[in-house]
Amino acid sequence: MKMKWALLLSLPVLLFQSFQKEKITPEKDFDIQQLAPGVWAVIHNEQGGRAICNAGIVDLGNKTLVFDAFINQNAAAELKKKAEQLTGRPVSFVINSHFHDDHIRGNQSFIPGASIISTEWTKNKIQETEPGEQEWAKKNTATQLKKSMEQLASAPENEKNEASVWVNYYKAITQSLPDLKMTLPDITFSNSFRIYGSKRTVQLVEYKNCHTGSDIAMILPEDGIAFMGDLLFTERHPWLGDGDPETWKNTLKKFHEDATVKFFVPGHGRVCGKDEIKVLIQYMETLRQMSVEAVQKKVPDSVFLRSPIPEPFKDWSFKRFFIPNLSTVYAKAEKRDN
Ligand SMILES: [Zn+2]
Repeated sequence: MKMKWALLLSLPVLLFQSFQKEKITPEKDFDIQQLAPGVWAVIHNEQGGRAICNAGIVDLGNKTLVFDAFINQNAAAELKKKAEQLTGRPVSFVINSHFHDDHIRGNQSFIPGASIISTEWTKNKIQETEPGEQEWAKKNTATQLKKSMEQLASAPENEKNEASVWVNYYKAITQSLPDLKMTLPDITFSNSFRIYGSKRTVQLVEYKNCHTGSDIAMILPEDGIAFMGDLLFTERHPWLGDGDPETWKNTLKKFHEDATVKFFVPGHGRVCGKDEIKVLIQYMETLRQMSVEAVQKKVPDSVFLRSPIPEPFKDWSFKRFFIPNLSTVYAKAEKRDN
């Protein structure tokens, strides 16, 4: 996530719904779902967990891999422990799907022992932004936590779940700050990268200018599973502000058409199939349609950016992202029009 999200408003959330696969044991920070023998989705527990994003554990046969490292090093240490228990060996690889704090700050819990892998773009971006982000967090998290707690206390019943998501977010950061060290990836790539294990191969594919300037999807071809990082949010507003919704939408269309991948692990939300990919495409198309019409009718942004959330998405969590998302899409539509 991004610190600047904090400056926006908050609202409701959906309860975690379990996927068709068995949920093993509820952990404090996350739930584990086995998707195939040796493949587990690790789903952030929104009822007080400190993970904040989802992750994955993959048994390669002779090595163990973790996809995404959470925001908080204690939650990451718990993830490491779980990966070791499930696979019976130490973690060799940790993938950072993109540069956002909630996917990378747990890196330090896997060091020494594991290699951290990201794209070259992402490593450079972490190096460039993370010192400032951590500085910002040290100065502002206490105030943001207090504000979020006040919002939770005064929220009507139907908004309490979402309000508590942000309280947990700032609590996870508060707890992490005293010992937080920037831990950069030590293996980088551009375009694509494969790891050949004795039991399975994973394919890391870079998608440029989607959720951020560079995002990794990890594909398990033999299992028909893709760990999407924040290329996919389910039943949550995605964050569009650091990338390009048009390129992102086209990437999602390719996944939707790809018959070899059937199960998707999003960066936020529950494990899903193709329908949820389609819904996210529809979200981006709807915002684009609204923006194009507003530009054509010369609706000033001060009016347009008070638009209500369209019906199909109105119960989604992360509501505070809707207006900034609309603003991102509107600015792009306006630029194209001029
Ligand atoms: Zn993200």
